[in-house]
Amino acid sequence: VFQLSMPLNFLGTIYREVRQSLLDMEVLFNLQSEHTSAKDPPDAKPLALSGGEISFENIEFAYHPSRPIFHDLSFTIPAGKKVAIVGPSGCGKSTVFRLLYRFYEPSAGRILVDGQDVSKVQLASLRSAVGVVPQDTPLFHADILHNVRYGRLDASDEEVFAATKKAHVHETIIKLPDRYATPVGERGLMVSGGEKQRLAVARALLKDPPILFFDEAARIYSTSSLDAQTESELMKNINATLLDRARTSIFIAHRLRTVVEADLIIVLKDGAVIEQGTHEELMLRRGLYYSMWQEQAADAEYSQAIVE
Ligand code: ATP
Repeated sequence: VFQLSMPLNFLGTIYREVRQSLLDMEVLFNLQSEHTSAKDPPDAKPLALSGGEISFENIEFAYHPSRPIFHDLSFTIPAGKKVAIVGPSGCGKSTVFRLLYRFYEPSAGRILVDGQDVSKVQLASLRSAVGVVPQDTPLFHADILHNVRYGRLDASDEEVFAATKKAHVHETIIKLPDRYATPVGERGLMVSGGEKQRLAVARALLKDPPILFFDEAARIYSTSSLDAQTESELMKNINATLLDRARTSIFIAHRLRTVVEADLIIVLKDGAVIEQGTHEELMLRRGLYYSMWQEQAADAEYSQAIVE
């Protein structure tokens, strides 16, 4: 057992490192896109947003040719709606965002925002229209004020405070030794996963984008069940704040409980949409979504049994 677990742990570390550097890359790309339009085709126009409708049309995509992720993937996210994307782990939920944001290009098919092919519009205009709350939020080696202000560089201090209050992280910050001047990031203060995601929410609120991607954390960070309860309540409130504006919101859900209220739920499996509809419609279908609920209910009972 020991011999087996060693290399597996080792792979886990590498995986985390690769994943982290990918996130750092996302930040880098973000910064670059604010300064350059090098990737734009010569005739590229800025994205003209109307309602924020997103369509994936017959998308083919693989990170590595040997392992296709999407095959003939098509779906439409209606303008101004709250849409959840669910599916088994590794089915490509986060990849949907990476393609929309053009971190990667599909090998076939088109992605349209309000009818415009995202590969033909100015990248900076696309990225300024889309906000993201990632699962794992990259923090810079800077103080908290700067880390939140990154959401919109010209925001005033007051606007930053308003955002952190709405994201339920202001109270935590003002208890820190240097309050908003406390350094975070690799060499700074350790911030819990839940706090990090709340800082990301504050960033997103500051940016206030017409299209918002929320990659919900896969796990609840707190270990005690009471804290976990509080945390999931908190996330529910935050989600409501984020989603209350009339914007197109795409919610990548790992816990099904949070998707019940979505206007539309898109279920991905084996690289394509296997079913879609509202919670009630999908429950009646008794397909994959229904069985994921059954599984999650069984898991909850199981962990409850362990606690007791
Ligand atoms: P989860 O629910 O576990 O977060 P997901 O549905 O969001 O997963 P993705 O993160 O989109 O899944 O990844 C889809 C598949 O592509 C996974 O099998 C993943 O291991 C793989 N993958 C993701 N990023 C890369 C990458 N940069 N290079 C190679 N493979 C990748």
